[in-house]
Order: sequence, then structure tokens, then C-alpha cells
Amino acid sequence: KQRVLSGIQPTSDSFHLGNYLGALQYWVRLQDDFDAFYFIPDLHAITVPQDPKELRKRTKVSAAQLLALGVDPKKSTLFVQSQVPEHAELTWVLNCITGFGEASRMTQFKDKSVKQGADNATVGLFTYPVLMAADILLYRPQLVPVGEDQRQHLELTRNLAQRFNTRYKKTFVVPEAHIVTGTAKIYDLQDPTSKMSKSAASDSGLLSLLDDPKVSAKKIRSAVTDTEREIRYDPETKAGVSNLLVILSSLTDTPIVTLEQDYAGKGYGDLKSDTADALIEFVTPLRAKVQEYMSDQGELDRVLAAGAERAREVAGRTLAQVYDRVGFLAR
Ligand code: ATP
Ligand code: MG
Repeated sequence: KQRVLSGIQPTSDSFHLGNYLGALQYWVRLQDDFDAFYFIPDLHAITVPQDPKELRKRTKVSAAQLLALGVDPKKSTLFVQSQVPEHAELTWVLNCITGFGEASRMTQFKDKSVKQGADNATVGLFTYPVLMAADILLYRPQLVPVGEDQRQHLELTRNLAQRFNTRYKKTFVVPEAHIVTGTAKIYDLQDPTSKMSKSAASDSGLLSLLDDPKVSAKKIRSAVTDTEREIRYDPETKAGVSNLLVILSSLTDTPIVTLEQDYAGKGYGDLKSDTADALIEFVTPLRAKVQEYMSDQGELDRVLAAGAERAREVAGRTLAQVYDRVGFLAR
């Protein structure tokens, strides 16, 4: 089986519908055909300030959500990044072959450090893409599904792998950039031209999976639309309606063209209430499952410990080669 690697940060109390429809639903599908490694990058999370208690809670609730959504620890290796020390250890070695200028050209650091205020940005944030390179290179995956915003980081990963291989000895598999396109992209309900994001200024357009479904239904009913009446997919001029169509289509597995036909002659109110119903139907059992996983912390800890152990078998082998080639003594 080919190997796939993907991660999602534990930076909120709940994943949102965009995370699920744009990424996590594919995680669940891929685990049948791939040797899947899925992880929660808490080392990445602390590149910006985190409250320790919150971080621990969010890491657990992230794991619980992944399990509830269908990531199956029998099929996939599910782990928390900090429980696999090889990530931090390989990062150090990679830091030492990364050019300062090369790292300085990473645009995500520029964007995020502007948000943080230049003087508050940390060296950790600066070296974030190198940690990401370590995440990937440790597992030698064939498939690393990333969004367009990660293209530059993947390019750095490829460069570092090639550089290490040439400077020492062939050690890393140079990963192919597999930019995921054609996956659903979900937009903010109140501002349907920006993507739904947990870091949006206001959460009135955000559908969090673990929120009270009544709250989410209300948000859907107050979603921004347009002054026409026609239910038609046209993201350019009808961003709000198109977003609702994408959500309803994904949640009910119905092609958008079918929905357009079904809603001919109907109003936005109908579309909204059906979308709200579909969401309620999706999140209600999900929330119950998450609660179940959260109510047995011992079991959750065991699942993650087993995942970390499996991850370490693979990561440990790669790191041992790296340490040897760099000239470190055996440990
Ligand atoms: P942040 O705002 O902190 O960047 P986020 O909401 O964008 O958070 P990420 O943790 O960056 O979430 O993304 C996790 C995964 O979810 C990624 O694979 C990303 O492509 C996907 N994703 C995030 N937002 C959306 C969205 N609105 N529509 C589709 N996919 C999304
Ligand atoms: Mg993001």
C-alpha cells in the first residue's frame, strides 16, 4: 500500500464544516486504500501562543472528533505529534541545512508574523515549515495532500530532502507535491467570499461541528444570500447561495445540478431550512460519539499511545539513518 500523511492542528474547541468537507472526509475515505498516518500537530500549534490547559483539551477533543468522524485506529495510524519525539529531533537536523534566506522567503511566516506583530513572532513560527518538512520526511509518504497555501512549504520539503540526500547519502524520498484541488471549499456564511475559518474575526458565519445544532441551524437561516430569487450555482455573482448549495450537496451526496432542478420555483428559505436539517442530521450523532470518546479518557489515551508507538517504529528508523549519516554516535 502507498502511504498518505496528513495533519490537523488542535487550535480550536471544534473542527468546522470546512475542515470536514474540505479535508477530513477524505482522510476517512483514504484509509481503506492507503497506509494512512494522521496526526495532530501540537508542536506546530505552539508556534503561536496557546494556553496549556486549552491546548491539552483541544488535542484530546481533536482526537475524539477524528475518531467520531470515522478515522479508524485499526486501519490508520493516529497520533499526536509531541508523543513522537522524532519530529522535533529531525527538525533540528533539517534546521541546520536550511538557509536563513530560504526560510525567510516563506510567505506564511511573513503573513502570520504581521498578524502577531513583527516583534512578537517567534523563532518557532519562523522554523514552522522545517518542522513540517520533518513531519513529512520521517514517514516517506507517496501522498501528502495539502492545500494551495502549503505549496511553498512542500517545495521547501523537497529541497531539503534533495539537499540532505546529496550532501550525505540517499536517505529521504522526495515527496511529490499533491495539491488537492476539486475538494469542496466552504465559505463563511456571513461573508461568502472568504473561506470558513476558525480564526475569522466573528464566528457568526462559522459552522462548528460540536456547537449546539440549533445554533448552527440559526446561523444557516441567517446566511447572507442575494436580492434575486433564483437558486442557481454561480459562485461569482451568487456566492452565498452557491455556498449553501455546496454544503447541502456534500452533506446529502446529491449533485448540485439535481439540487438546482429540485429547487426550481422554490425560495431561499426552503434551501436554508433543508441545509439546516441536513447539518443537524450530520452533527447530532457526531456530537454524541465525540462525547462518548471524551467520557473515556483512559481509552482515548490508549488509542493515542498505540498510534504513537506505531508512528515511532517508522519515524525512528528514518531518524536513526539520519543521525548516523550526519555523524552522531549510536544511542
Ligand atoms: P486557520 O484559520 O487557523 O488556518 P482553518 O480553519 O483554516 O484554520 P486549518 O487547520 O488551517 O483550518 O485546516 C485544516 C484542514 O481543513 C486543511 O486541510 C484545510 O485545507 C481544510 N480547510 C480549512 N478551511 C476550509 C474551508 N473553509 N473549506 C474547505 N476546506 C477547509
Ligand atoms: Mg488554515
